[in-house]
Amino acid sequence: MSPSGAEFIKQAKSSVVEIDPSDVKPLLGNGVAIVDVREGDELTSGKLPGATAIPRGFLESRIEATVPDRTQKVVLYCASGVRSALAANTLVRDLGYEDVVSMTGGITLWKDRGYDVEVPFQFTPEQRQRYSRHFLLPEVGEEGQRKLLEAKVLLLGAGGLGSPTALYLAAAGVGTLGIVDDDTVDVSNLQRQVIHKTSTVGVAKVDSAEEAIHALNPDVNVVKYQTRLDASNIMQIIEGYDLIVDGVDNFPTRYLVNDACVLLGKVNIYGSIYRFEGQATVFDAKQGPCYRCLYAEPPSPGEVPSCAEGGVLGVLPGMIAMIQATEAIKVLTGIGKPLIGRFVRYDAMNMEFRELKLRKDPSCPICSANRTIHALIDYEQFCGLKRGESETASAEQLEISVQDYAALRDGGTEHLLLDVREPFELGICQIEGNTNIPLGQLPNRLGEIAAWKDKLVISQCKSGRRSMKALETLKKHGFTKVLNLEGGILAWGEEVDPAISAY
Ligand SMILES: [Zn+2]
Repeated sequence: MSPSGAEFIKQAKSSVVEIDPSDVKPLLGNGVAIVDVREGDELTSGKLPGATAIPRGFLESRIEATVPDRTQKVVLYCASGVRSALAANTLVRDLGYEDVVSMTGGITLWKDRGYDVEVPFQFTPEQRQRYSRHFLLPEVGEEGQRKLLEAKVLLLGAGGLGSPTALYLAAAGVGTLGIVDDDTVDVSNLQRQVIHKTSTVGVAKVDSAEEAIHALNPDVNVVKYQTRLDASNIMQIIEGYDLIVDGVDNFPTRYLVNDACVLLGKVNIYGSIYRFEGQATVFDAKQGPCYRCLYAEPPSPGEVPSCAEGGVLGVLPGMIAMIQATEAIKVLTGIGKPLIGRFVRYDAMNMEFRELKLRKDPSCPICSANRTIHALIDYEQFCGLKRGESETASAEQLEISVQDYAALRDGGTEHLLLDVREPFELGICQIEGNTNIPLGQLPNRLGEIAAWKDKLVISQCKSGRRSMKALETLKKHGFTKVLNLEGGILAWGEEVDPAISAY
């Protein structure tokens, strides 16, 4: 004869070790797994602090993820102590757990004794629908979604990288999104900065982004910083955030962000893009390398052109931003293997992903034991964008202002205007009478302008950076009278010839 229900419970309970709530209390937070086996809707009035909720029906399939070590002590409880006793029996008998106990009287007795309960996060019915696909993933589940809703993520820039990241993190339910950007939306941004719209051209990017985020998910609290990050404000801004998503496009800010994150112990999710290629990694100096471990010194100014100068394929930032958003969600929910100590390079032209190992530099100036940097520095100077006083005098002679150049042209002074931009840029606008040799081809094509070695050459590009690089090349190869057109064709368009279109 099979035992009756009551007898079955009695038998099961007799083979299970039971423990009084007063003996469970000192076990909290001491490496003992506390598992609540009640159904989801029973948890609304609270659970034991630190307990993991696994409904009885899912216990067999999910316990291993919570308690992988079968020798670890496990305390099970339910409402009154019956279901947990049966569940304890299953864990010991069927799954081989060695040290499982059931709490007598369940959470009812626990509460009667006046012990603390942790009232779980309450999802609204709307949130349950909105995030249902996350709830279906046991790796994310309600716990992961709660973490996302309570998370604070700071996006540096609402540009190519920041736009898709912001949209997807908002969609995923990241509760607070801080956005730092001092720019306004320009029509030329819309080719890739998908958070902005034609209707928000001219609007501050932080406002345009906030509008799109709230239209997508009103749950998200947007904190706007319409400012440029610098050493005077960065610590204050990033301090309150769980992690930083770096979408900055210049070296001084990149080093600034790295140093601030290392000093404050923040995780920095890095991405960068240029033309058809992108890179991403997660910098967490507590566990792996930082940006300075990778690039101890910045490149010399002008050596690496920006996207504004070299262009970028519109879809490219989307790909890199999705790597960043994915890593952000993994770090926030604690799932998966983060991209720490690994560097992903993406080549859109060949559709190739390559992964490089990154090591912590034992002599890193900011994240090693022998660090020499203990506070933020002057990043403009560090990146060579600001000249020291002694250099100013000689540096000034290398450049000519657009007004002086206009006067020189009007006066008919013989010179060669060397435009070192790419041919397609000349299609957008150019200064009459130029000779075009793109910067990258200059060393091999110097022969074409050999006649100008001892005559005046004006080097020009879009903003003055590439042409400064060209000037160095020319000087190195014996050109004696070279001047860089300060501010490039953009300055020329602004101050001399309004017919020139900015791009
Ligand atoms: Zn480092």
